[in-house]
Amino acid sequence: MTTWLKARFKPGDILLLIFLLLPLLVAMPRLLGAFNDSAVGWLTLTGRLTGILGLAMMLLAAMMSIRLPHYDRWFGGLARLWVVHRFFGFAGFVLVLLHVILLAYAALPFSIDAAILRIFPPLAEWPIWAGWLALVCMVIFLGPTFGFVGRIHYQRWKRLHLFSAPAVILALLHAIPIAAETLVWWLMAVFAIGAIVWRKVLSPSLGRYRYEVAKVDTLVRGVVEISLKPVDKTMAYEAGQFIYLTPLDSNLSAGRNEEHPYTISSAPSDEYLKVGIKALGDASSAIQTVAVGSQVYVEGPYGDFYERVEPQRKQLWLAGGIGITPFVSGARDVQNRQGEVSAHLFYLANDDQRAYYLDELMTLGQQVDGLDVTAHYYRKEGPINEAFLREHCPDFAEREIYMCGPPAMIHHLRQVFKGLGIPSSRIHSEAFDFL
Ligand SMILES: Cc1cc2nc3c(=O)[nH]c(=O)nc-3n(C[C@H](O)[C@H](O)[C@H](O)COP(=O)(O)OP(=O)(O)OC[C@H]3O[C@@H](n4cnc5c(N)ncnc54)[C@H](O)[C@@H]3O)c2cc1C
Repeated sequence: MTTWLKARFKPGDILLLIFLLLPLLVAMPRLLGAFNDSAVGWLTLTGRLTGILGLAMMLLAAMMSIRLPHYDRWFGGLARLWVVHRFFGFAGFVLVLLHVILLAYAALPFSIDAAILRIFPPLAEWPIWAGWLALVCMVIFLGPTFGFVGRIHYQRWKRLHLFSAPAVILALLHAIPIAAETLVWWLMAVFAIGAIVWRKVLSPSLGRYRYEVAKVDTLVRGVVEISLKPVDKTMAYEAGQFIYLTPLDSNLSAGRNEEHPYTISSAPSDEYLKVGIKALGDASSAIQTVAVGSQVYVEGPYGDFYERVEPQRKQLWLAGGIGITPFVSGARDVQNRQGEVSAHLFYLANDDQRAYYLDELMTLGQQVDGLDVTAHYYRKEGPINEAFLREHCPDFAEREIYMCGPPAMIHHLRQVFKGLGIPSSRIHSEAFDFL
């Protein structure tokens, strides 16, 4: 039971719950005091409750966008935080729509004109119109996020997402003059707007480290490992965490001044901070030729990849493609933590040509107690299965499992583990795709 709770709920969730319920709890005595037990009464009550909850969710989604290094771990890492952020954004939008519909319906028994007037009043009732404008901004930035208009390029999506800031401000301009409980909304507004200001205005100058490209090693065609050395301050990190990297090299054909997330492949004690990058799109392709000596911004570290729900268990690591990077970091770190970690790494690649970190990992596996390494080649052996895992790691099903790789690989392995009755609380996976 404790393991189940530990895997599903994180300490920061309590904070989210408090912020979510606070405006409701504060407004409840007033709403219940004015309540009358009729259809109109119920519609009005639910209309107001959905409005309050919808706005609280929007403000929470804004607060969650703060991206504070280290503190994301309270919430299970940035990747989980983004999932909750998306959920609150979408649920908030649905609730706000319901709020409009329910309040219009509540006026319908009086007349259609009354219903229309309630949601489209004269311009003098500007807070209602501020609410409409907030809704328009929400449609603009949520449409591409949830694929209402197809999948768009990440950078364009990011620019459209900036409409979330006016949406939050307009929603507050709608609620604060109308609501009786202004204090709670001001409090939430300070946190929500503070989060946006930190992320967009302060963090680019205060929250980043300057590093210099010391080496670029080509591992295979389309994959490099970049070694970075600090220009002034050094960023502390743990194995398996990731950073946002912004290259400043003016000769890059794409991605200059653009931040992209990459997992750290070095161990915390290594001389250089390293990232292994596979060319997947324009920015990750261009960075393959980044100039030695040029500078980059590093923001982070983020993530909680090696979160241990059951620390006493041995670990099973499964990596596919560029998803090997957190395990390279973990393996390079095991030599500093001998006796603390016992892990068996399965390196899943199409063939030996694409297992670009294998030589180093095999050497580490031979030198270091507590690390075993097995390669699996899809072209030769087909999809990895229980028999292969059992042959090389007989106790694999009793271990705490960590996976990183293409979605198809993660899905396939989850099915294998589900078939064996391994509880999902013992399986951790990271996707390299936030959208
Ligand atoms: C937590 C995490 C860790 C990652 N670690 C690695 C790694 O160690 N090595 C590696 O090669 N790749 C890693 N990636 C993937 C890497 O971030 C993308 O390949 C890269 O951003 C693609 O950018 P592009 O312009 O080349 O391609 P595009 O064609 O622009 O993007 C391809 C896809 O990458 C994602 N993406 C693009 N830009 C961003 C961004 N700024 N923020 C979030 N997602 C974005 C989007 O889903 C997009 O659809 C990681 C991603 C995440 C989320």
